[in-house]
Amino acid sequence: MSAAIHTWTAAGMPVHPYQQEACDTVCATCAAPIKYGIPLAQIETPTTANHADYFRFGSKHVCPACAWLYAAGKGRPGNYIATPGRMEYTVISLDSVVTDKRPWVDALADVAAMPPETPVAGVMTTDVKPRLWPRVRLATVGRFGLYVHASEYDVSEWREFGLHACIDLIGKMTAPLAAGYSKASLYHGLLRDYARSTRCLGSAWEWESQLAPHRSEPHFIPALIAAGVKKESKRDVKPTAGPYINPQPAATGGHQPNQAQPGLF
Ligand SMILES: [Zn+2]
Repeated sequence: MSAAIHTWTAAGMPVHPYQQEACDTVCATCAAPIKYGIPLAQIETPTTANHADYFRFGSKHVCPACAWLYAAGKGRPGNYIATPGRMEYTVISLDSVVTDKRPWVDALADVAAMPPETPVAGVMTTDVKPRLWPRVRLATVGRFGLYVHASEYDVSEWREFGLHACIDLIGKMTAPLAAGYSKASLYHGLLRDYARSTRCLGSAWEWESQLAPHRSEPHFIPALIAAGVKKESKRDVKPTAGPYINPQPAATGGHQPNQAQPGLF
């Protein structure tokens, strides 16, 4: 089964707006063998990008699953993960106002609890604009992977990584993020944030020693993308040149965080 068909099936095989016809070929996008397909002429629009990448195998048709995904349009499906019977749209920020989307960290924890042979497919991206779903491969919980796209880290690839290692590392990232370190500092090294790290060198060294062994591992970037703290848990997010001020509880408005979701860099 292709990742696209797995995803479409997980979503409940929703209808697509195209007319299909009999054919005997493979899907031009996901290579699944098909007896009925949607002609590429219906899928192609003047703005369809990556024709050469996504219309392949000498085929002139796509399967209903890929047709549905093409019909979703730009920016969709964005971040998602599909397991049997469920396609879930996810978000990076823990402070999302979108009530029907959970943060990655919650979705990953649920998936990690599934049996290792459970099939899974998904995209984790910091930019929902590029069409990434055709690049997804079918993975399992035990041999996990996602298409990971984060131009901030120069990553856009299908990436296999350990799901449990990723979740463990997200946990290790929480304390330094809550202490106000940026994701860029987690990526490059906490000591680059001189003002913050020198204020409490003990914890800076401790956290840095926990993160450092993972930086070259495949699960590091996915963990960094998914990691976060809720605004109210964040302390001292503003890089201060002045003296250290004990942050007030967010509700009092005494110490306003300077941004909702800082850029990854
Ligand atoms: Zn297909």
